[in-house]
Amino acid sequence: MTKLEGTKVRVRFAPSPTGYLHIGGARTVLFNWLLARKSGGKFILRIEDTDRSRHVGDSVAKILDDLRWLGMTWDEGPEAGGDAGPYFQSERLSLYNEHLARMLESGDAYYALETPQELETMRENARAEKRILSYDRPSPIPTIEEGEAAKRDRKKVVVRFKMPDEDITVCDDILGDVTLKSGQIEDFVIQKSDGFPTYHFACVVDDELMKITHVLRGQEHLMNTPKHVAMQRSLGFTTPHYAHMPVIFNMNGSKMSKRDKEKALKNGDPPPEIDVNDFRVAGYLPEAVVNFISLLGWNPGDDREHFSLGELVETFTLDRVGKTNAKFDREKLLAFNTNWAASLDFGLLFKAFCDFLSASENIPQEIRDADEKKLREALKACSGFRIFPDVIKKVGFVFASDNDIEFDPKAVKKVLAKNENAGYAILDHMITRLEALADWSVGSIERLINDVCEARDIKMGNVAQPLRVAVSGSTISPAIGDTLVLLGKKSTLARIRKCLMNREPK
Ligand code: GLU
Repeated sequence: MTKLEGTKVRVRFAPSPTGYLHIGGARTVLFNWLLARKSGGKFILRIEDTDRSRHVGDSVAKILDDLRWLGMTWDEGPEAGGDAGPYFQSERLSLYNEHLARMLESGDAYYALETPQELETMRENARAEKRILSYDRPSPIPTIEEGEAAKRDRKKVVVRFKMPDEDITVCDDILGDVTLKSGQIEDFVIQKSDGFPTYHFACVVDDELMKITHVLRGQEHLMNTPKHVAMQRSLGFTTPHYAHMPVIFNMNGSKMSKRDKEKALKNGDPPPEIDVNDFRVAGYLPEAVVNFISLLGWNPGDDREHFSLGELVETFTLDRVGKTNAKFDREKLLAFNTNWAASLDFGLLFKAFCDFLSASENIPQEIRDADEKKLREALKACSGFRIFPDVIKKVGFVFASDNDIEFDPKAVKKVLAKNENAGYAILDHMITRLEALADWSVGSIERLINDVCEARDIKMGNVAQPLRVAVSGSTISPAIGDTLVLLGKKSTLARIRKCLMNREPK
């Protein structure tokens, strides 16, 4: 029985504040969160901000916001607090120093005094001899006193971990046993010359002090784990369960990365969505994104694909996370979103729509300022859309002022001017009929259109399309009854009048 058995699951997500949350990071959060929720354990959020040079301004706030958008609530961490805090590594220096002193004392770590030039020479030699490892452990190793004296002399001193001369096996819950032969990792830096710990060291100390039982992270960290295990042994720490998740690839086989955006821009292509925030402002639903990323490396064992967060909590198990790389199929995500938009509870859909309107940059001001009731009705009238920008395309005109409607010349030609202005003739007739309509409801508008169609022996489209072009300027809008009710009688009539005034003389 390992020390961990019988203890409550405690998992963590440990982002470095270097920008927005990447979609791969979101998958890491999700799997950790699911494991915690499933087992009645705790999900901890820890901010790994010890690399001051990589710190990006307000990224912590952005990451927290993205997590909230995804529905990933944390039990301990920034804002939530908790007994194992502080949860920002930059506020935990004294804890790291305590354990660092122990390692220096035991001889498992040492002050390294090489100058940058000396390190460069080591690297050059390694390159010339085609060796991967370049750092040569000093002999003799500097004593603690020598290290401290060098520090007092303001020399750039780091602390390195003395990598033990033994094979290290990581027992990975997904990959099985992964052994790294001795001699494959050089003595690595655990405290930088600015006094901050490196990621490896801070992570190991915090995983112990925060009583983390399972570390689920991307496979790109697999080669870090032997370093972590070696330090845990040196410090007498418990080794948590490790599970390294498959890497996420683009459909063309390249690794999905933040750099894909720069590459696309360089080629003059629109940048693909990569960060959680990109998907948010592009008009995806959090439910669809969560559902989609849950299947990046995990499967339920049957062909079921539609999962709410609650259903994932019920169904998710770590033993169904695979070893093979996951593919990020954007067409599939779009299909998931379409499905979710059609099936989601309307209250949640509307909430997500409002979030999209405030998060996205290209929303016309009149839509941002629109009243809630009208927005709700507009969204209701737009069933069958893929992502929220489709809604804007379909009903955006409703929110414009009547004078600003511009008529798409192609639509005018095809729907109004064709057959000797047949569409305009319908509008001439409809304007008086609509003016006389007392009950401005979908039912009575549809009845009126039906009556006109029957009386003239024409199809519904022959009436609905001219009306649509007149009130929206284009051939795209929700069902005609919904469209006119959304607009209201006054605007409908004003727009038809404007359209008729624009008629080209024959
Ligand atoms: N701060 C690390 C990262 O953002 C965390 C890695 C880990 O989970 O240990 O990649």
